[in-house]
Amino acid sequence: MSDFNLCLNCGACCAYFRATFYWTEADLAAGGSVPEELTEKLNNFRVCMKGTNQSKPRCIALKGEIGKSVHCSIYENRASVCRDFDMAVNHDPNHGCNQARKYWGLPPIPGYCPN
Ligand code: SF4
Ligand code: SF4
Repeated sequence: MSDFNLCLNCGACCAYFRATFYWTEADLAAGGSVPEELTEKLNNFRVCMKGTNQSKPRCIALKGEIGKSVHCSIYENRASVCRDFDMAVNHDPNHGCNQARKYWGLPPIPGYCPN
C-alpha cells in the first residue's frame, strides 16, 4: 500500500500478494522496523507479513474493510516491499495495483494504468 489517499479506500494489494522481504527488516538489532511478531519465516533469508502466505491472503496489519476504508496499522514501520508498492500511475505503471483491485471487484485506477 502506498501513501496515496485512494489507498485508504482500497487495501486490495495487502490482501492479494505475499508481502515478503529480507529478514533484517524485522530485526530491531539489525536496524529493522517491522514488528517481528507480525512476520512469518519463509527461509533463512526471507520473511513475510503474517496472513499473506496463504491461499486467500490478508496481511495481519491491515485494518478495515477492503474497498471501503482501510489502514495499515504499522504504516510508519512497514517493510520496503510495502513502501515500494505504488499505486498504478501512468508515469510508473504498476499493473499489480490494478490486478489486485480487479480481484477485489474494484475498478482500475481511473485515468492511470490500463488494466
Ligand atoms: S491496490 Fe493500489 S490503490 Fe489499492 S491500496 Fe494497493 S497501491 Fe493503493
Ligand atoms: S504491512 Fe501494511 S502496507 Fe504492508 S501488506 Fe501489511 S497492511 Fe499492507
